[in-house]
Amino acid sequence: MASNQYFTLKEVQLNNNCPECYSNNGLQLTFKQQFKENKLYKAITKETFIEMHCNTCKTDIFPGRWTDEIDRVVDYQKRAAIPKPKSLKLKKLAWIIISIEVALLIIGLLFAFGVLKF
Ligand SMILES: [Zn+2]
Repeated sequence: MASNQYFTLKEVQLNNNCPECYSNNGLQLTFKQQFKENKLYKAITKETFIEMHCNTCKTDIFPGRWTDEIDRVVDYQKRAAIPKPKSLKLKKLAWIIISIEVALLIIGLLFAFGVLKF
């Protein structure tokens, strides 16, 4: 089973006032992109999400608490944050399994065509 994980795509410090403590130097916006990983592969998906955290009052700022000004900055930053393209990387184990299957297929074909005989 592949589990969903996220990596940080981009972190931005905002000058906006925190909706909780009104500090203007604690807000941090984090763009994350999802990837799936299991024993056979690691795949980057197109799913992204945004987290906002205030380092001054140590609070996660959820979109419901964002002010219009924060919304605008987030929109702007969203356009500047380019997600990584979707990709799939096979791991060593997957390649080993594929190699064994290909080898078995070739051996099978050689027997079928009478090239190899017991
Ligand atoms: Zn705060």
